[in-house]
Amino acid sequence: MNFKSLPQLLDYFKEESTCIEYYEGIRWGGNPACPHCGSLNPYKTTRGYKCSDNECYKKFTVKVGTIFENSKISFRIWFAAIYLATSHKKGISSVQLALDLGITQKTAWFVLHRIREMLKEKAPKMLGEKNMVEIDEAYIGGKEKNKHTSKSRSDVYPHLKNDGTPYVPKTMVVGLIERGGDVVIKKVPRAVNYEIQPIIDKHVKAGSEIHTDESHVYRNLGITYDHSTVVHSAKQYVVGNVHTNTIENFWSVLKRGLYGVYHQVSDKHFERYLDEYAARFNTRNLTNQERFENFLVQSESVLRYRDLIKFT
Ligand SMILES: [Zn+2]
Repeated sequence: MNFKSLPQLLDYFKEESTCIEYYEGIRWGGNPACPHCGSLNPYKTTRGYKCSDNECYKKFTVKVGTIFENSKISFRIWFAAIYLATSHKKGISSVQLALDLGITQKTAWFVLHRIREMLKEKAPKMLGEKNMVEIDEAYIGGKEKNKHTSKSRSDVYPHLKNDGTPYVPKTMVVGLIERGGDVVIKKVPRAVNYEIQPIIDKHVKAGSEIHTDESHVYRNLGITYDHSTVVHSAKQYVVGNVHTNTIENFWSVLKRGLYGVYHQVSDKHFERYLDEYAARFNTRNLTNQERFENFLVQSESVLRYRDLIKFT
């Protein structure tokens, strides 16, 4: 198998049985394991497997315990959805995915959220082992109609515009990017040192070279790191190799994607979208097929519809 485009993927995964065989290979590598008890000796049945453990003896298919569980959509459509969602640099909306794949928008929405669940970083990333790390904050969103829901944050954003109306609160994120390497993005409640420093300590190896702007939130970085700054307020953007252009380019892709593709992202799903953008960025040097397989390996996770809508 070798696919470089969506038609090639769809050609290869014509039959559901081909998809199942392929996914069983990815998930179990030829040794099916019971997702209920972990037993490694299931019987093959006509529709899947049956556990041979006397106390378990449950039936299962390769979908149980994965993002595909309880889904009526064929693997072929799922694979196409994963391919589209992970290869478009700015992502794909549920409206567009529904049109492309001939499914309802509600189904497409659910599929995309499960895909985001799969894209979630399973282990914390460590940056700065090889190259310098750029760190910066960004404010995302802030649509007029969100105002009433964000009152509790008004103490963080007390500023008034020239006409006296308050600025619409935005969501703040901090981004850490290793030049030539990976990005880590986290939502933070406010731009203060005690919110941001722990994230940096968790994700950047001590002693690494870090570049930021002059913001006070980074004032203590010099204790653990080799910290250099550019003074943006003085229009200083590049000094030698000190700059934050890499993370700023990432912000522009993220913002164009969130505003252009997804229009508005609700607060409760916001971090899923951040995970999605980080995952795509961190696999940018892989081929479409490598990226596809790389993510499928992480598909063991179930996100039920009720979990998604629980907080509405
Ligand atoms: Zn079992």
